[in-house]
Amino acid sequence: MSDHFDGGGLEADDIDDTPTVTCSRCEAEWDLEYELDTLRVGNRALERFALDHKRHAGHFPDEVLPWCVACEQCPDADEFLTERPARRWAETHARHTGHEVSLRHADGGSTTVDAETDR
Ligand SMILES: [Zn+2]
Ligand SMILES: [Zn+2]
Repeated sequence: MSDHFDGGGLEADDIDDTPTVTCSRCEAEWDLEYELDTLRVGNRALERFALDHKRHAGHFPDEVLPWCVACEQCPDADEFLTERPARRWAETHARHTGHEVSLRHADGGSTTVDAETDR
């Protein structure tokens, strides 16, 4: 609407329902208006922002606790927003290289995926 925010009396600041994301590595904060209004991703706005931030900035923003996969034998590693693609990465890497891959959530738990995963 308007980018004029310094006029007193406007209630724009009180309506705080646009979610925001911060990134300490970028030392920046964003609201998710672009994701909501332009990309129209609704309640996946944070997810979309996180994926775009990872793609373009190379890391996830603060609020996101990513799943990290790391090969125990080569420097290959990556981060994912959800467990499924992380596990798929680990299984694929193990399948093709025979390496053990550790799968770790920023929240705590970790598992190891090896080449003998039952399917
Ligand atoms: Zn960042
Ligand atoms: Zn490897």
